[in-house]
Amino acid sequence: MSPCYLRFWGVRGSYPAPFATHMRTGGNTSCVEVRCADHVLIVDAGTGIIPLGARLVEQDAVREVAILVTHYHWDHISGLPFFEPAFTPSWTLRFFGPGNTEMEVAEALSEQMRAPYFPVETETWLADVHYLHAKDGTIEHGPIRVTPFHVHHPGTTFGFRIEVAGHTVVYVSDNELLFLDAPIDQRLEESDLDTGEHELLVQMKEEAKRASLQPFLDADILIHDSQYTREDYARKRGWGHSCYIDTVNCAIDARVGQLYLYHLDPSYPDTQVDALHREAQEIIRRRGSALRCEVAREGLVIPL
Ligand SMILES: [Zn+2]
Ligand SMILES: [Zn+2]
Repeated sequence: MSPCYLRFWGVRGSYPAPFATHMRTGGNTSCVEVRCADHVLIVDAGTGIIPLGARLVEQDAVREVAILVTHYHWDHISGLPFFEPAFTPSWTLRFFGPGNTEMEVAEALSEQMRAPYFPVETETWLADVHYLHAKDGTIEHGPIRVTPFHVHHPGTTFGFRIEVAGHTVVYVSDNELLFLDAPIDQRLEESDLDTGEHELLVQMKEEAKRASLQPFLDADILIHDSQYTREDYARKRGWGHSCYIDTVNCAIDARVGQLYLYHLDPSYPDTQVDALHREAQEIIRRRGSALRCEVAREGLVIPL
């Protein structure tokens, strides 16, 4: 195996989906391993981090990892109470997540392990644990450099631009790409075509689009929220997730090399995920784009 790679350990959004109909895609929630030789960076701590933790302890090749969480919704932290390295002496864990102080990050991660929700608290962790926060700016972990940025999702939520092995990988698990469009669209409908207001609103919509593309521009790899079909998005607009069609169009417009459809809705079986993927490729073909697009499947390894 290449010394540098990405591996998907969990690709579902919202809640785990351990159903026979879902196994080709995978049932664990958000977790991606970024590995470069002896350096392991983990992005999000959904249930996918549980088998990853077991593998790391079993391999015993590294004893220090950085764990970045985009935000503290359950699908991004619920694997932590079962993350073996935390309960193993001589391991070092460096956590990063939203919050202005070390204490805020520590509390947000550990609250889920308090009674009556869980029998042991983070105080029982045997690893050496450190907490980094947003004011620390760029995060460096060996040869891996990470720049957090804000995305459109309830509460403070980050996306990460990761520079590793000469590649730019952009990770955005939860993000509603058209978040700003709804209020503008409504005002557009109400505005008079002949007025300056209409022109201004059209301009605002274009600016919102440019701003939403900015973090993904020229990324080699984009891992992005593709939670909903068009029909589900129509019912769940404003919930903070994207329709896969918007994700594909955005990746084309931002000149991304390779897109992975990620944070897939847990109610979609493999057959429905396959259908999304076919439609995504059809959009790319119709637009004459060179974008490559795959479904982020659990266990998939991408050499860098
Ligand atoms: Zn999520
Ligand atoms: Zn969320």
